[in-house]
Amino acid sequence: MTDPTAPVQGGAAALAAPVVARTRDELREARAGLDDGDVAVVMTMGALHEGHATLIHRARATHRHVVVTIFLNPLQFGPKEDLSRYPRTFDADLEICTAAGVDLVFAPTPDVIYPDGDPGVRVSAGPLGDVLEGQARPGHFDGMLTVVGKLMHLTRCSAAYFGQKDAQQLLLIRRMCRDLDFPVQVVSVPTVREPDGLAMSSRNTYLTQSDRETALCLSAALRAGAGAAAEGPSAVRRAARAVLVREPLALIDYLVLVHPDTLEDVPEWYRGEALLAVAGRVGTTRLIDNLPVLVGPGGGALEIFSQT
Ligand code: AMP
Repeated sequence: MTDPTAPVQGGAAALAAPVVARTRDELREARAGLDDGDVAVVMTMGALHEGHATLIHRARATHRHVVVTIFLNPLQFGPKEDLSRYPRTFDADLEICTAAGVDLVFAPTPDVIYPDGDPGVRVSAGPLGDVLEGQARPGHFDGMLTVVGKLMHLTRCSAAYFGQKDAQQLLLIRRMCRDLDFPVQVVSVPTVREPDGLAMSSRNTYLTQSDRETALCLSAALRAGAGAAAEGPSAVRRAARAVLVREPLALIDYLVLVHPDTLEDVPEWYRGEALLAVAGRVGTTRLIDNLPVLVGPGGGALEIFSQT
């Protein structure tokens, strides 16, 4: 019998910290300890926040085991991008993983993932990888898919959870799994936002206080666009653009209303599901955001959007 006078620690049973694997051997050994068949993976670049935690919780709720990967993949960063300044917060990441009940954290260095240097053979994202983010970041999606494929093989996952926040990435991962017959169930999770609407992102830590206020125009534009969805595509674009033009400090790269499967602009007669997506630079930081919308009668945002 338990001793009723024993001190209660924190009121709840302390969660065990996940096993941390840094090498392929450590991963193999730790992965062998997890039952086969029901392992979900959440792939991240670290600097974890509530968005990542939500992916982990979703995976945890459905699967017997959850593996989190923390890997800053040099292959998906361009020479002028923020790889060297990307926030690295491993101890805090591990705490989030512990609190969320993660079984295993795989946190390799690039030489573990690419022992022979940059791989000559890579996954090609094809035409969908050349538009929107792919136009701004040439080669990004090939590098991303290459590492996602490798991490799916290495973790031997049956499911993988990704955020709607990176809608083009999610679409391409779905396509890769279908086109190349990866036996992995791809699950998407709606974008997690700050109470004022800003989409959570590891890159938000780069924003100054005034950048952060400027950045709100991205989510505000999406919300305004979704509010006009019943009137058709040009009304959506017009309403969203009207918000962005009021904020000259946000250097907008694109604002588009596209078909969610083809990423092509939807024509004026289009009714149905579409993706309203925006990207731009605020201060020194490139930010992206998007909102799935239903265009046409009764239309509007297809994701819950926190209101200020
Ligand atoms: P990252 O570490 O930025 O590569 O993100 C790792 C995963 O977390 C990706 O599947 C992202 O789409 C997802 N993610 C990042 N931010 C959010 C967010 N605010 N809400 C939901 N998922 C997110």
